[in-house]
Amino acid sequence: KKEKEFVKNLVRSVENFPEKGVIFRDITTALKNKKGLQIIIKDLTERYKDKGIDYVVGADARGFIFGAAIAYNIGAGFVPARKPGKLPAEVESVEYSLEYGKNSIEIHKDAFSKGDRILIVDDLLATGGTAKAMVQLVEKLGAKVVELAFMIELADLKGRELLDGYEVYSQLVY
Ligand code: IMP
Repeated sequence: KKEKEFVKNLVRSVENFPEKGVIFRDITTALKNKKGLQIIIKDLTERYKDKGIDYVVGADARGFIFGAAIAYNIGAGFVPARKPGKLPAEVESVEYSLEYGKNSIEIHKDAFSKGDRILIVDDLLATGGTAKAMVQLVEKLGAKVVELAFMIELADLKGRELLDGYEVYSQLVY
């Protein structure tokens, strides 16, 4: 609809970043826009306010921006999923492959109780590797993934297929 179109026009596309041939979708230009930020967060708040979410889990680092705002608005807690070595207490960790090499993400072991209802949030869904690792991490800790939410989905990369069996919501599709 009109509001989504407004936000989509605020996203800056940067060619050849971070490497040649890639079009990077830069969300900073949408977030800095006063009306843009309102539309983005309001839409996610409306969608999740009555879903019984206990915790919003945000992916390091851009997922924190959306995650904390949504959690605050819907009365849930916020839990960061971080790059390795950042969290101070005992962590659970999941490794996942990137185009070149491997990465891992961590959540504090005591973050959830059994059966807690989780919303996973990140800025952008590409291949789905990051999101899939987040799902595995949340489930390893005994909680339940209710849905995954993204500002942007790059449909060509089929991240949605990797997340088969889970509810996936994206505000803007490219
Ligand atoms: P995936 O694991 O392949 O789905 O990649 C998703 C992750 O890479 C997210 O955490 C994004 O922040 C980041 N990412 C990949 N492509 C872009 C882009 O075009 N703009 C912003 N972030 C991106």
